[in-house]
Amino acid sequence: MSVANDVDIDSLRAQIREFLSSAPRPDGLRNYGPTPTEADIEPGRSWHKYLAEHGYAGLHWPTEHGGADASVLHQAIFAEECARADVPRQLAITAIDLVGPVLIAFGSDHQQQRYLERIRLGDDIWTQLFSEPDAGSDLAAVRTTAVRTQSGWRVNGQKVWSSAAKSAQYGILLARTGAEGHRGLSMFIVPMDAVGVAVRPIKQIDGESKFNEVFLDDVELRPDALIGEAGQGWPIAMMTLGRERLTLGCQAVAMFRLREQMVDAARERGLFDPVLARAMARIWSRMWLLRFTWERAIDAGDLASPAFSVLKLMTSETDRDLADLATEVLGTDACTAPASTGDARIVHAMLVGRAQTILGGTSEIQRNILGERVLGLPKEPR
Ligand SMILES: Cc1cc2nc3c(=O)[nH]c(=O)nc-3n(C[C@H](O)[C@H](O)[C@H](O)COP(=O)(O)OP(=O)(O)OC[C@H]3O[C@@H](n4cnc5c(N)ncnc54)[C@H](O)[C@@H]3O)c2cc1C
Repeated sequence: MSVANDVDIDSLRAQIREFLSSAPRPDGLRNYGPTPTEADIEPGRSWHKYLAEHGYAGLHWPTEHGGADASVLHQAIFAEECARADVPRQLAITAIDLVGPVLIAFGSDHQQQRYLERIRLGDDIWTQLFSEPDAGSDLAAVRTTAVRTQSGWRVNGQKVWSSAAKSAQYGILLARTGAEGHRGLSMFIVPMDAVGVAVRPIKQIDGESKFNEVFLDDVELRPDALIGEAGQGWPIAMMTLGRERLTLGCQAVAMFRLREQMVDAARERGLFDPVLARAMARIWSRMWLLRFTWERAIDAGDLASPAFSVLKLMTSETDRDLADLATEVLGTDACTAPASTGDARIVHAMLVGRAQTILGGTSEIQRNILGERVLGLPKEPR
């Protein structure tokens, strides 16, 4: 069965819901979010392959590369239904959502042939090697260098917060090939098993180790490791960051489930006093505002729409505040919640909530973007 673009929304949703509910789930599959842990890779890969075989991997990719050329609405409905079914939407987002579109837009024929189908089928995991200890919000300050040699490029530097780097076969690397500023940046493909690449996992607050430090020490790359032209790294990086926003839709649905768990937890504990009821009503109205803004952005169908900037800010802060409130409802039970229970899921959501307002651009940076680019306020002094 493949997915058509010309069916109405209700039928499309029903078709996807039916597909997901009857799809065989590999043993050990859980909804691990955008990045798998090492234990998630095997079930996540089998699941991804099943999605790919049925036309649901790389929905947004053009048909000539095995995608479905799906509209933004279509992609959003699939993301929402995956969240509702509590399954991941893909093996890992970096390859299919970020690297795929980059290679389709900027990659050479050789790069497209070599990497795209493997990404679509979930054969390879990729990591995004952008952030550095002194270059996160200010990404143009990247100091990792790639110097041209007779046989290609030599890379030296350090990256940090690189999701899935430990299990990745390839990295998409932003490195400096020229003068300071964004015009001196270029984008490369790095085989993660190349000599001189060292990966050190970082232990997260929730106990998992999804992201890593990556050290690049005299790493030799072939000439065809460069994506696009030298000096074209910045527009390529901006394209990947824009795509990250669309994945937020999944969270909007997950929030409604978390809110139900919170209400159940409050009911079980007989906690409905006016103060808690008011706090719950406030977060409930924020969730609906988010939902309506999300629908407006989808209607516009344009990933460059300013509504998506508002969404990143609203989603991450609402998500964090909801999980914080739900944890308050648990009270001291939060410290002893047995694994795999509803209470443990609430605590996990609260811990993961710390990351939401940082990844993909912090809340402060989103507010700067909204102030300057959407509201036309004066630029921050630099
Ligand atoms: C879960 C998670 C996964 C991630 N995965 C990846 C990945 O796979 N690959 C990758 O490359 N990166 C990844 N990141 C890194 C992420 O992109 C950066 O953490 C983020 O861009 C912020 O950069 P920073 O951590 O260096 O903070 P900084 O930029 O140092 O910011 C520190 C604080 O200062 C504030 N600040 C900075 N500049 C301004 C300003 N101009 N105005 C107002 N306030 C400002 C920030 O908002 C923040 O509160 C991930 C992060 C997380 C949390």
